[in-house]
Formats: sequence, C-alpha cells, structure tokens
Amino acid sequence: MKVLVFNCGSSSIKFQLFSMPEGDVIAKGMVQRIGEKGSDASMKRGNDEIKLVREIKDHTEGLSVIEHMLTDPAKGAVKSMDEIGACGHRVVHGGEGFTASMLIDERVEKVIEEYCDLAPLHNPPNLTGIREAKKFLPSVPQVACFDTAFHQTIPETAYLYALPYELYEKFKVRRYGFHGTSHRYVAERGAALLKKPFDQFDAITCHLGNGCSMAAVKNGKCVDTTMGLTPLEGLVMGTRTGDFDPAIIFYLERKGYSLDDVDTLCNKKSGLLGISGVSNDVRDLEEKAAKGEGRAALALEIFAYRIRKYIGAYLAVLNGANAIIVTGGIGENGPIMRKRIFSGMEKLGIILDASKNTASVKEGEIQASSSAIKLMVVPTNEEGAIARDTYAIATKK
Ligand code: ADP
Repeated sequence: MKVLVFNCGSSSIKFQLFSMPEGDVIAKGMVQRIGEKGSDASMKRGNDEIKLVREIKDHTEGLSVIEHMLTDPAKGAVKSMDEIGACGHRVVHGGEGFTASMLIDERVEKVIEEYCDLAPLHNPPNLTGIREAKKFLPSVPQVACFDTAFHQTIPETAYLYALPYELYEKFKVRRYGFHGTSHRYVAERGAALLKKPFDQFDAITCHLGNGCSMAAVKNGKCVDTTMGLTPLEGLVMGTRTGDFDPAIIFYLERKGYSLDDVDTLCNKKSGLLGISGVSNDVRDLEEKAAKGEGRAALALEIFAYRIRKYIGAYLAVLNGANAIIVTGGIGENGPIMRKRIFSGMEKLGIILDASKNTASVKEGEIQASSSAIKLMVVPTNEEGAIARDTYAIATKK
C-alpha cells in the first residue's frame, strides 16, 4: 500500500510517500512560503527532482501542486492518485483525548479544533491540511498522529503544575509534552538495536533539533518529559528559553515590556540566539566557539548543562536507565555537542567513547566499554512512524 504523510505548517506542507509495510520512501518533498511572495515546491524521487517556483496562495493550491508533482509523467511517483491507499497527518496537540494515533472522523477533528487555543501556531494549519486532504483524497482513510500522544502515560505527579487545581479543571493547564512521535520512535528503535523487549526498556531520549526536549521512558512508557503546556518549557533551544523563573515576566512587565514583547522574547529571541547574540544554529556556534569568538562557547555550554541536569533528574525518576538516546539535527550530527553533554558524569556510569563518538556514526552505540549506561545515536524518523501507524490503522480489520 502507498501511504502519503503530511506535515502541514502555517506556510509550508512537507510530504513523503511511503511503500508500506516495507517503510521505503518512494518520494518526498515540500511546498514552502504558501501565501507569501516567491512560493516554491519541490519533490525528489530517487535521483529525479522537480522544482517549481510559482505563486501558491493557500493550502488547497499547495495540495494541488503536490498532486501535479506526484503524478508528473516523467519524474512523478504514481500514475494516478488512486494508487494512494491511506493518508497520515502530523498533529501537534491532541490534548488529553488521544493516547495513540486515530482514524480521523468528526469527533477527532473537533478535538483538534478545541486544542487550537493551546497550539495556535500548529493545530490550525494541521486541521487545514486534514480538511483539504479529505477533499483531495476523499475515499482513503485519513489518520492523525499526535505529538502529545506518547506522553499521555505521564502520571499526574509529573504532569500537574503546583498551581491551584481549578486551573487544571477549568482550563486543562498541565504538562502535555511534544515531539512524542520522535521520542517513541527512537526509544523503540533503541530497544530493538539493543535486543531488549520494549516493555522492559528504560531510557532517556533527547530530541535535539531547533526545538529540543527530553523524555523519561520506563518499561516502554513515557513517565516524564521536559516540554510542558507549550513547547517553551525545559531545555535551552535555538531561540526559546526553556525553564526560567516565571517571575522574570512580572519583573519585565514592571520595566515596561508588554506581554506580547515577553512572549516574542521568550520564544524567538532567547535560547542559543539570545545568549550568544549571533546565532541559533549549533554549527555556526561551534565554529565561532572554536575561534574563541564572543559568547558562542558559553551558549553551547549552557545548552549542554541543561541537558545534563535533566539526565540527572530522569535517572532519579527512572531509578537508573538502560540507555540515553540522542536524536534530531544536533544529536545525530554533532559529536562536539555530544561530548559537551556526556562529560563529567562518570560516577553516574555515563562514559563516552571519544573515537566512536567522532566516527561518522549514523546509528548505534557510542559509549565506552566501561560505561554502565548505553549511549546511543538514533536518527529520528517521524514521518516513517506516522506512515507505520497510518498503515496499521488503515488495514485494521
Ligand atoms: P528541526 O527541529 O527544525 O527539524 P533539525 O532536527 O534539523 O531541526 O536540527 C537543527 C539543528 O541541528 C541546528 O541547530 C543545526 O545547527 C544542528 N545541526 C545540523 N547539522 C549539524 C552538524 N553537522 N553539527 C552540529 N549541529 C548540526
């Protein structure tokens, strides 16, 4: 069966076409800058590439451009859209309603709509993508895969904030966590690589991309995660603060900042960018740090320190772990950052092997033989996980 996976953002649609159950990628591409000047679309199938630059005014038009690319007689991936058997969608916020991926019906759409309030940048475009895809592929099952679903096993001791309980009852203020599809995928893959049954696997997973989060996984179930009500909490990120004293907000307000100013400051101007003053990109900062420029090294050290602090916290939560897994652009490609992270924890049984770490490891173990805890790099594959869930739901009898 061919399964099409969509990840719809406010101005972009990423897509991948899979052959299932093998999980092979037939084609992948994206439409960017929808509704802006200079929209463009591209698709790759093997060595063939299609590139288009034209105005794409909305998601409906974006999907029709994707249909044209997929069915292109020379470089396309299918003869007709009828070959597609199911369609999977990444949905950021599923709230408390969903513990797993779901076949989309009216109720599922309604819940995604209800959580637009909590994920105003993500759920509305996710929903638009679903509604447009239903028109575009009316007779195939559509499946929603939620970033929040894997975290729904977190107990209330870890998901409740110490705020008045009514705020949870009235407004559902609690920790939800995000990147769940990635945490689940790398945890399952890590267990498989170590030949451990997933339901007996304890791990700390670190998704380190532009957004960063960690999860504590006990017996294959998530028991805590660093992101909270929104993706702002937890680790230092490219442009987000992660944890900080919320009283800073009141203090800044008294200093003349508006709430909108502080929102922008915390989400877009902080993190690696805010500390270094020059970049949110770990590659740029490593280059500058190597030359001793500015506050690049300081920003990277603060980033790594926060991760170490959570490793300590999660080792306590889990009472030890089989493995610590890193993934995302930084975790998968950054040996220098991995070294910064996994330093000074020998007494906890965490010892990196310097040469395994720097060898261009794509997937596998990078700990020294004396390390009690396995340290692993596992490339994430959120789209592949969505395709797998979509296929399973679409073929369920
Ligand atoms: P997103 O969360 O947008 O999917 P990615 O997972 O692609 O982001 O991660 C982006 C981050 O990965 C950036 O900070 C980038 O600097 C970092 N990164 C990518 N390649 C490397 C590399 N070779 N070395 C260090 N960091 C890298």
